[in-house]
Amino acid sequence: MKRAELVFIPAPGAGHLVAALQFGKRLLQRDDRISITVLAIKSAAPSSLGSYTESLVASESRIQLIDVPQAELPPLEFAKSPAKFFILNIENHVPNVREALTNYVSSSHSKPDSVPIVGVVLDFFCVSMIDVVNELNLPSYLFMTSNAGYLSLMFHFPAQDSRTGAPPKDSDPDWLVPGIVPPVPTTVLPVSMTDGSYSSYLGIAARFREAKGIIANTCVELEAHAFNSFSEDQTTPPVYPVGPVLDLNDGQARSNLNQAQRDRIMSWLDDQPEESVVFLCFGSLGSFSEAQVKEIALGLEQSGQRFLWSLRLTPPKDSKTLTPIDCSNLEQVLPDGFLERTRGKGLICGWAPQVEVLSHKATGGFVSHCGWNSILESLWYGVPIVTWPMYAEQQLNAFRMVKELGLGLEMRLDYKKGGEVVKADEIGKAVVSVMEDSEVRKKVKEMGVVSRKAVEDGGSSSVSLGRFIEDVMRNHFGSD
Ligand code: UDP
Repeated sequence: MKRAELVFIPAPGAGHLVAALQFGKRLLQRDDRISITVLAIKSAAPSSLGSYTESLVASESRIQLIDVPQAELPPLEFAKSPAKFFILNIENHVPNVREALTNYVSSSHSKPDSVPIVGVVLDFFCVSMIDVVNELNLPSYLFMTSNAGYLSLMFHFPAQDSRTGAPPKDSDPDWLVPGIVPPVPTTVLPVSMTDGSYSSYLGIAARFREAKGIIANTCVELEAHAFNSFSEDQTTPPVYPVGPVLDLNDGQARSNLNQAQRDRIMSWLDDQPEESVVFLCFGSLGSFSEAQVKEIALGLEQSGQRFLWSLRLTPPKDSKTLTPIDCSNLEQVLPDGFLERTRGKGLICGWAPQVEVLSHKATGGFVSHCGWNSILESLWYGVPIVTWPMYAEQQLNAFRMVKELGLGLEMRLDYKKGGEVVKADEIGKAVVSVMEDSEVRKKVKEMGVVSRKAVEDGGSSSVSLGRFIEDVMRNHFGSD
């Protein structure tokens, strides 16, 4: 049996690291020849990702972990642009990654029973590390934690830049992206294209085609148009849709949520009628000002719907962190009497056990920031989304869910975190729409069934995972 080792370099963000490790687990389950070494870059913000990684690694004998020494953090002035901060933090780690990877590869070569290292799986935000991987004569594979439409946008971005040479403006014409059906309004392009990260982001997109292959957390059935566009373009590397790759079981390990907090939420849901609760949750970095919180509260009241609301506040302007804060005094930020009036009808929490909540039969709708993991999770459990994007590529995801895929209801498509306060009336109507619409709900449930089938034995993503393994082996060992 030819054994083979892959080195993973995930990006240090919740949505990135968790998906990469879950993909790693799936590879191990699929093929017992494979082992994985994870080079872990530390997150710039305090988080429980380190302990999540350690506990996952401890439970899998064929994964080992190497901590990359912490590099200097980017200056805090960049913290205003989370993407720029994220990209710079990764760039600052390149020398440490070079040293860790080079040492690891040479120590592995010198072992008598060494397993050949057959490639490096880089998070797409770590694409600049292709140089380091090339120096070691290894192939680089990219792990795309987002979707195929976004991948198509990244393939297209350098060509668009060579025409315009400048960040897109709201008044620019829509972009025609080969893998996305409707023309894309510039207002829903990823925030990094307009927030001062343009050139760093372009630098990332420009290198995608250098990868030997790209693994994407999606399935063909969900994004058929994007996959057709890749097959027609001879210049892109092979793209392997292997999703949905979700963390359906290990989730609690990554949060600071204790058992009592989790039980309080789940037992409240147990007491609610089927599909009667709208869940509001906005990802690892979604947060609101107190003024916006008041409008959300009033909107929920106006909607008359039951609700579970993960309420997290934007840290004060002079704060040194981007991490949202849990509210310690709800009475103070909510409208007078709100808690009293909605007692029994709604529950407010901080970080939520999202996967468990979406899987609960009482959950009937989801006001979401449209992070890709949240979208995949909601489809998996057949819970329709109403869109309230915040940061990263969420506006594009929201736009596609509503306008291209017909799998979401529109509240906002181009909202950006910290934008103008959305009024209660609009929020209330959006909440009612997601709870009452039966057409989108039906489509979402159908897509849920399809996406589960995709990862079963013989399903499209399972076949594609097998193809990825075969190609990795062939690229290293040749065709015998
Ligand atoms: N999540 C959670 N509880 C929360 C907020 C988020 O469990 O209160 C999880 C959610 O289930 C998802 C991930 O965090 O798996 C967020 O990933 P996504 O891609 O949706 O958004 P990001 O945080 O990367 O913006």
